[in-house]
Amino acid sequence: MTDPNFLHKGDHVHLAYGLMSRRVTQPALSIEQLPDIDLIVLSHMHEDHFDRLVEKKLDKSIPIVSNQYAVNKLAKKGFLAVFALQNWESTLVVKGNAKLLITSMPGRHAPSLLGKLGVLPPVMGSMLEFARHNEGSSVQDATDTVDFDRNCKLRMYISGDTLMYSELKEIPRRFPNIDIALLHLGGTSVLGIYVTMDSAQGIECTKLIKAEVTIPIHYNDYTVFKSPLKDYQKEVDKAGLREKVVYLAHGDTYHFRVGSAQRSAARSGEASDTVSAEGNGSRIQGSVRTTVAVPVEKDEAELRLASSDPVQVS
Ligand SMILES: [Zn+2]
Repeated sequence: MTDPNFLHKGDHVHLAYGLMSRRVTQPALSIEQLPDIDLIVLSHMHEDHFDRLVEKKLDKSIPIVSNQYAVNKLAKKGFLAVFALQNWESTLVVKGNAKLLITSMPGRHAPSLLGKLGVLPPVMGSMLEFARHNEGSSVQDATDTVDFDRNCKLRMYISGDTLMYSELKEIPRRFPNIDIALLHLGGTSVLGIYVTMDSAQGIECTKLIKAEVTIPIHYNDYTVFKSPLKDYQKEVDKAGLREKVVYLAHGDTYHFRVGSAQRSAARSGEASDTVSAEGNGSRIQGSVRTTVAVPVEKDEAELRLASSDPVQVS
């Protein structure tokens, strides 16, 4: 699960010094209706991404991966299995023979002045890469033998609340062939200044990331969102990208085929046998820092076990 926000229509969130915003949509599910959750990837600690209901009702032992600022806050709130990533750093998650490599992507929520004032919390985007390893091999084996350039079945980018800025250009350079991009749009306006991508920045980002499929999200939930979806749709049509963008309403499901993208191992010349790929290119500068083992059976006891001993530092 990413950025859990289960507040209801009419509820208010606090975003910055005295700045409140009202939710104008209902969540597709209530928190009680969630299926078992293995893991949460959180872009940043803002109430429209991690709210007080979640804080109160979410199982504190569910692992959460985010940036250092958010992880510190989460730890204070009593969350037991929190993992911080620096920019470009990765964490490998293993469950059965499924592997998920989470890499922190750059993101900038506030333009320079607001950023310097520390009005908004730091944000991270994320790249989620899904692969499999042989049944029966240990977590450590999995860490040692994954080559995500060759074996990644699905590469998904989640922007988080970011503006379009120069560092994002590094993302498609390191991660070509992105299958799906979830872009947080909405043109959130704080003190009259945009702090998330509006339609113009959204289309720029869509063209930059060049995902097989782009799905805009986070554009109509709160009163501070000033750039409606129809503006982005117009930009998409103008850019001739209608075939590449999928629009989902709350509660919609999008089905897609995994593993269809042709990811070239040739880019690096040689196959790498480590995830960090330090020897063959610059894709991941920070190496894989931690491995989170999610138990296959998810009864209560095992989840607790996971939270008490989930981390292997590689
Ligand atoms: Zn937001």
